[in-house]
Amino acid sequence: MTNAINPYDALMNITARPSTVFVKGDGAYLWDDNGKRYLDFMQGWAVNCLGHSPPEILEALTVQAKLLLTPSPAFYNGPSLKLAKALTDRSCFDRVFFTNSGAEANEGAIKLARKYGALHRHGAYEIITFDGGFHGRTLATMSASGKKAFEPLFEPKVSGFPKAKINDLESVKRLITAKTIAVMLEPIQGEAGVWPFTDQFLRDLRALTMEQGLLLIFDEIQTGMGRTGKLFHYEHAEIEPDIMTLGKGIGGGVPLAALLATEKAACFEHGDQGGTFNGNPLMCAAGLAVLNEVGKPEFLKSATETGLFLESELQKLSARHGLGEVRGRGLLLALDLKLPIGAAIVAEAFEAGLLLNSPQADALRFMPALNVTREEIAEMIDGLDAILTKAGAARRVA
Ligand code: PLP
Repeated sequence: MTNAINPYDALMNITARPSTVFVKGDGAYLWDDNGKRYLDFMQGWAVNCLGHSPPEILEALTVQAKLLLTPSPAFYNGPSLKLAKALTDRSCFDRVFFTNSGAEANEGAIKLARKYGALHRHGAYEIITFDGGFHGRTLATMSASGKKAFEPLFEPKVSGFPKAKINDLESVKRLITAKTIAVMLEPIQGEAGVWPFTDQFLRDLRALTMEQGLLLIFDEIQTGMGRTGKLFHYEHAEIEPDIMTLGKGIGGGVPLAALLATEKAACFEHGDQGGTFNGNPLMCAAGLAVLNEVGKPEFLKSATETGLFLESELQKLSARHGLGEVRGRGLLLALDLKLPIGAAIVAEAFEAGLLLNSPQADALRFMPALNVTREEIAEMIDGLDAILTKAGAARRVA
């Protein structure tokens, strides 16, 4: 038996991280244990939609923690009933199952589609997903993902996820067989570098899936809860999927996610699905606080306008430094760097007290709080401008 030498060694070494320890967050800012302040344009990877430790969530958690943490999933509790009702009132879905993570919600969506196939399509079980897609890190959701780096891992994969190409309807058609039960996608492929499906493609795909009797599953774990300016991304294309998953922003910083389905698709029977913490009142109380705020029309309007402002500021920055396109929607945007310098920029930004993300070597992704201010955007742009100027000068010298 070996004892860990220092606390870092007590955690499994699953990714490279700076040794900095973060101790406090407030709105757009984080502080480390040396008192250094960071402007945060990652926000827990598009999680803290109201910023760090917002008063609405603190109040909801405090009130609920004093009342009841969990009665057991064998019993109903008030916050989960209220949140499920509010989500169904605000969406095209009729039923909700709460989960603890996005991957677990997607795992549930996959099970639901397979159950539907067993009941209504002679056991059809294949779900067409897309190259570049990311759906989580359980075995089935890694198999559903179209991430190249996942391909050699944890073989054998869960079978039944043929991959189509983004915005290519013919590639979907070619994969449809008697075994197909559903098509599943992220409306904007976030981890792949913010690559959007077009609204027209989504409409055509909805028409195709309806014609073929297939379920359409939207993974809105990153795009949902106001991230793209509408409460749910599917509203942009004016279509209604059969199943949707939510995560990240739905809890505003606490572990909460959800699987939503129309009455027709919600075919689980007793024993098919469950989990100890699913729909626990503490997390659902936080989710209600988030939805009460993010769901307000004026909040969504303001997030849309802020997204357009960030987009135009990034476009100006790109023009100044000879970089590439700005893509995405609302407050989920990427800047094409044209060169594989993303990791170096992120490291420089970290030193300068600015938290950025580079999902691919040649791109930066911006996913600030949905209530980020124009002043905070200007501060981020100034910081990034300085780093890009330095990087450009270094390249010219080299
Ligand atoms: N689906 C999408 C689109 C995501 O962006 C993520 C996380 O980044 C997941 C699923 C997995 O969610 P979680 O990390 O909460 O399991």
